[in-house]
Amino acid sequence: MPRWFLPAFALGVGAFSALAATGALSPLSALAIGAAASAAVLAAITTREPAEAPLPLPPLEANDPAPMPPGAGQVLLARLPTPILLVARSGRVYYANPAAHQALPRLETGSHFAHLIRAPAFVEALSATLSDGDERAVSFTLHDKSERFIEARVALLPAGSAFGLEALALVQIDDRTDARRAEQMRSDFIANASHELRTPLASIIGYIETLQHHARDDPAARERFLGIMAREAGRMQRLVNDLMSLGRIEMTEHLRPGEVHSLEDIAAESAAALVPMAVQDGIDLQVRLDPGGTPVACDPDQLAQVFTNLIDNAMKYGGAGGTVRIARADPGKASPGRVGIAISDSGPGIDREHIPRLTERFYRVSVTSSRNKGGTGLGLAIVKHILNRHGGRLEIASAPGKGSTFTVWLPRADTRASRRGA
Ligand code: ADP
Repeated sequence: MPRWFLPAFALGVGAFSALAATGALSPLSALAIGAAASAAVLAAITTREPAEAPLPLPPLEANDPAPMPPGAGQVLLARLPTPILLVARSGRVYYANPAAHQALPRLETGSHFAHLIRAPAFVEALSATLSDGDERAVSFTLHDKSERFIEARVALLPAGSAFGLEALALVQIDDRTDARRAEQMRSDFIANASHELRTPLASIIGYIETLQHHARDDPAARERFLGIMAREAGRMQRLVNDLMSLGRIEMTEHLRPGEVHSLEDIAAESAAALVPMAVQDGIDLQVRLDPGGTPVACDPDQLAQVFTNLIDNAMKYGGAGGTVRIARADPGKASPGRVGIAISDSGPGIDREHIPRLTERFYRVSVTSSRNKGGTGLGLAIVKHILNRHGGRLEIASAPGKGSTFTVWLPRADTRASRRGA
């Protein structure tokens, strides 16, 4: 029998008896009033009873704490950049600071915490802390519009603290998505770089052993193996150079380049340095750029590396006997204040599914083709980072059988800026 039943029954019957005895009411009216009194007493007692379990969402309770009094504690929490929730024993969110509202757009004060964050690990941890008072740390993933990796700490604030008369759970939420992604990228990068270095190294070690044993007295084999070893060592050297370039570029990426030079002149000089290679491969290298050109704020060595990488790719992938053209990009396609140089080739082109990923480190349409052509898989990543530093961007247009066009877009230099170069 519920605890409230006996007192309610006694009060109801008492009211009925008293009124009937005074004769002030007919027995029927007295009975009705007695029943109403019992119902009111029952209702009052029922609403005061605390909920036993935090789940599912309990009805609003008379003993839920009153809104948090404004004071030093609340002012402090409101200023914190870390999302903070205070959760009452009933499981209702009693207070959430502005950072929490920003991190959890569905958040409503007064709703149950399990409706807000449904991750089972979080619900279990907070329920356990509310019942045993122990502090806990928990990691879980939230799936809103995108996947977010969250770390939360839950602890109990004792009753009577500045935050109110009831003990409350304090929940601190830390969105670790960006840090997780950066860690993942770093470890992928190290794994890729090690793999890229290990392959030529293993090949060189293998040939050294062969030369020391079976091929010791075979001059023809020795010549052939030394040629392969030189090629593999060259590949390792290019990879180490590209890795070091990338590291240096990343270190200066936040620094705005201070010199002003002609974009066309830098592109033309980079192309000129590659003429011997074009001649050797029978490539028609056409440079259609006006001298003088457009001033851009830049690091000229870095911009020369951008054009060298792009023209080198156009010649490598465009194939022997092809055409590579370097010209001003259609000004009609430029956003205001921007200038573009387009490098086009007559090669096999690239399937559209690959295009968005080409500037990722070590991403290649065909690893074998890239390796055979002496590629490291870092050229376009270097281009992207240099252009980021210059406030520019790379546009790639390509389709199978139609060749490729890589366009470098850069902001024109503010003409009021001092001309230190050019
Ligand atoms: P890699 O050292 O492999 O050339 P990059 O970062 O310079 O590395 O280029 C990444 C990939 O993009 C290449 O492996 C190749 O698959 C593709 N690619 C780049 N430029 C061209 C191009 N002009 N034509 C066709 N594919 C290209």
